[in-house]
Amino acid sequence: MRIERKRNPLGKEIYTLAVHRTPLYVKPSRNPVIIVKGKGKDIADNTGLQKLAKRRMISNALVLKLIDVAKEYRDYDFIKQCWNAYHCLGKIYTTGGKLHGKYCKLRFCPLCCGNRKADLLNRYYPYFQNEWGNAYFVTLTVKAQKVKNLKKYIDGMCRAIAVIIDKYDRGYKKGKCKKLIGIRTLECGFNPEKHTYNPHFHIIVKNKEIGDTLKKEWCKLWTLKYANPGAQKVKPVWNMQGALIELIKYCGKIFTEPDNDKKLQGMAAPTIYAHALYNILKALDKKHVFEGFGFTLPEQPKKVTFTPVGDYKIWHLDPKTGDYINDDLDFPLIGFSKPPELESLLENCIDTVLN
Ligand SMILES: [Zn+2]
Repeated sequence: MRIERKRNPLGKEIYTLAVHRTPLYVKPSRNPVIIVKGKGKDIADNTGLQKLAKRRMISNALVLKLIDVAKEYRDYDFIKQCWNAYHCLGKIYTTGGKLHGKYCKLRFCPLCCGNRKADLLNRYYPYFQNEWGNAYFVTLTVKAQKVKNLKKYIDGMCRAIAVIIDKYDRGYKKGKCKKLIGIRTLECGFNPEKHTYNPHFHIIVKNKEIGDTLKKEWCKLWTLKYANPGAQKVKPVWNMQGALIELIKYCGKIFTEPDNDKKLQGMAAPTIYAHALYNILKALDKKHVFEGFGFTLPEQPKKVTFTPVGDYKIWHLDPKTGDYINDDLDFPLIGFSKPPELESLLENCIDTVLN
């Protein structure tokens, strides 16, 4: 408040209260400009959004169970990662008919796994389809192990494959042998009856000769005591897309099934073993689960774009309904109807007891 000195029409000085001449600060109605990455998801594609909401529900249920397990081990770093996965795409922005959000990019996040799969498939499939006409699918494994040996064996497997590739690389440079060319993923299955883990490499190699060489060297390194030659497989690839999908579904045996509609309706509901998943994730920590060797992909133009936008809506995930809500709107973004099978699956099929 300010006192103002004025003169009245008779020339006499008077004092009045100053009138507020500058308008009061009003918060601009427009949002601050944000930068969105890539093209975003199409909002008109409701099937895609329903799928996303379903994945989100599975993700949250799974992550909460993993947190319970990690708490038992007082693994606070892992709990922190779990919360990041829990909030993956928890807040989204819609602009120009597209949806944008921040992904956690963690290995065990079902949403990010789906993205990674699609990305790898887009990058590798056209090249493999054209160049790798005689490809073979190789499985290399060791004997099933109890949890206490899991990390040791996975470390050993990574060392073994590196030793084999390196040996042939050096031989090739000296002109003594052929180069090993392929891509490999490291996975681990869990057998709930025997409580054992089955770590294995899935490898797509350029031809049969490379596949046979890998198998021969693998068996020689591990010997009969640790690896059964009958479990090491070399099979021709009939369908490159199918082989690639098989290869890149990380820890697939644990993640993929609950998202599969047929399984949801079917009789044999899959079980996610949270304890086993935790053990596998810890054993695979800092390991390269996906790696190519002996070849380089042709340069591909980077398609990622960054666009500043000011006109957008903000939506938050409502964990109860699995849908996204906006504070100013009284309808959800997706109109997600949770399939009843999904609810029972999430409640009953995530097992935290079994180790
Ligand atoms: Zn994520």
